[in-house]
Amino acid sequence: MNKDIATPVRTRAILEKYGFYFKKSLGQNFLIDTNILNRIVDHANLTENTGVIEIGPGIGALTEQLARRSKKVVAFEIDQRLLPILEDTLSPYSNVEVIHQDVLKADVGAIIAKELEGIEDIMVVANLPYYVTTPIIMKLLEEKLPIRGIVVMLQKEVAERISANPGTKDYGSLSIAVQYYTVAETVMIVPKTVFVPQPNVDSAVIRLTVRETPKVAVEDEDFFFHITKASFAQRRKTILNNLTSQLPGGKEKKEQILQALHDVNIDPTRRGETLSIEEYAQLSAALHSAFQ
Ligand code: SAM
Repeated sequence: MNKDIATPVRTRAILEKYGFYFKKSLGQNFLIDTNILNRIVDHANLTENTGVIEIGPGIGALTEQLARRSKKVVAFEIDQRLLPILEDTLSPYSNVEVIHQDVLKADVGAIIAKELEGIEDIMVVANLPYYVTTPIIMKLLEEKLPIRGIVVMLQKEVAERISANPGTKDYGSLSIAVQYYTVAETVMIVPKTVFVPQPNVDSAVIRLTVRETPKVAVEDEDFFFHITKASFAQRRKTILNNLTSQLPGGKEKKEQILQALHDVNIDPTRRGETLSIEEYAQLSAALHSAFQ
């Protein structure tokens, strides 16, 4: 087997060879611990038939572990300076395709169709750039890509918000949006010491398993998400106050909002953080005719 990229000595040698310096603005914190990498990959339950989408391969530390344990890896990297490095470090692996694109601008569905054609089992596995964690996760979910799930390293605090339950301080519109599409679990807490440079925040790995159908049946997804965001606009306010102040024409439609809350048995003095996803689905259905 080839020597692992993710050791402190090898990583330093690669960085020195290419005169590479980290760009904080691109969220560049590279993993230098093969054990951690292997545990991340374990959580993705890959097989030799799995196709993997990676976001931000860096110098290839995770990419190489993925390549060893899957059929093919397609990795999106925004930083042009990393392309010649990846070509070098990943040269032993013929099943890796690096795509020089900002994943947020990429047509990921079309790239999956082309690069992973005929592969039925597809996972996203990544050590995400922390400045764009949430937009990346939401893009992957909202585009309804043909993926089994997502296993990613991200800020511990964001992992906690994603997997939070109603009635907790971390529960919010992000928890609802992600749990609508997936079953979310925090599977690892990761110390800062396994990165170079070390990030300022603690890290965690989450596993998102895409549901066959969303957690709740919703007729108008945009409106449902609009209602959940409005309900958390000011956490200390009641659901009634948030909805009247946040929805267009909400103040004039206060009576209709009260009626909708009453129809679905939600006390208007409750706070947004106490409502379950099921209650939000009922509420958005009840409010729909008044606002659409
Ligand atoms: N996978 C490597 C590792 O674990 O050592 C590097 C992870 S590092 C946290 C994040 C990587 O994402 C960097 O290589 C960075 O250049 C890349 N990146 C940042 N923004 C990106 C974007 N919008 N699209 C694609 N890659 C991006």
